[in-house]
Amino acid sequence: MNKIIVAIDGYSSCGKSTIAKALAKYAGYTYVDTGAMYRAIGLYTLRHRLSEPAEIIAALPDIKVGFILVDGAQHVTLNGEDVESQIRTLEAGNQASRISQIKEVRAFLVAQQQAMGIEKGIVMDGRDIGTVVFPNAELKLFLTASPEVRAQRRYDELVAKGEKPDFDEVLKDVTDRDYRDTHRAESPLRQADDAIVVDNSHMTPDEQMEVIYGYFNRFK
Ligand code: C5P
Repeated sequence: MNKIIVAIDGYSSCGKSTIAKALAKYAGYTYVDTGAMYRAIGLYTLRHRLSEPAEIIAALPDIKVGFILVDGAQHVTLNGEDVESQIRTLEAGNQASRISQIKEVRAFLVAQQQAMGIEKGIVMDGRDIGTVVFPNAELKLFLTASPEVRAQRRYDELVAKGEKPDFDEVLKDVTDRDYRDTHRAESPLRQADDAIVVDNSHMTPDEQMEVIYGYFNRFK
């Protein structure tokens, strides 16, 4: 089987990264979490208190985002430092959503993401993978679930990490982020015309993976 590119897009907290990781393992492909790359830049701007687009753009040459494997799990690095846990907070997620609206930030990361796909054999998840990063990807999946289901998943994740979130705040955060992701001027989240929509609101994790492996196996 020739290697393909799998592009997975969708709303925040609909399980994109869990699905992408499982599919990459199943296929023997490389997994790339592009949200982690935006989060790493978001973290850099929080740490350096950069808020104006012009100062963020000026800082880009000083920002190196990478990935390392730690006990088999992919961790994102920021200028060589493992920042995997620091980028998974609500604050870093919101900042990622803000800085991802800047055209130059997107161009900076899209170029790196395209370079990672040159050899194919990649599963990449994000918001613009099937539309901008790899418009020619062989398999494009667009994931969705209701805002309430996604907020509950996010809430459970934060509780598991020892945080004490407020459900209504998490739900507002999900809907605010959806709004920003779908209404921004630069590469708004939208379903590519040739993407397959998977609504996993009422699927168990196993059910959804069966569906997704089925789509992948069409390329065998
Ligand atoms: O997927 P995740 O929640 O980690 O992404 C964090 C934020 O980064 C998203 O809310 C979105 O604004 C931005 N993002 C993006 N394009 C991508 C991946 C993430 O704009 N390809």
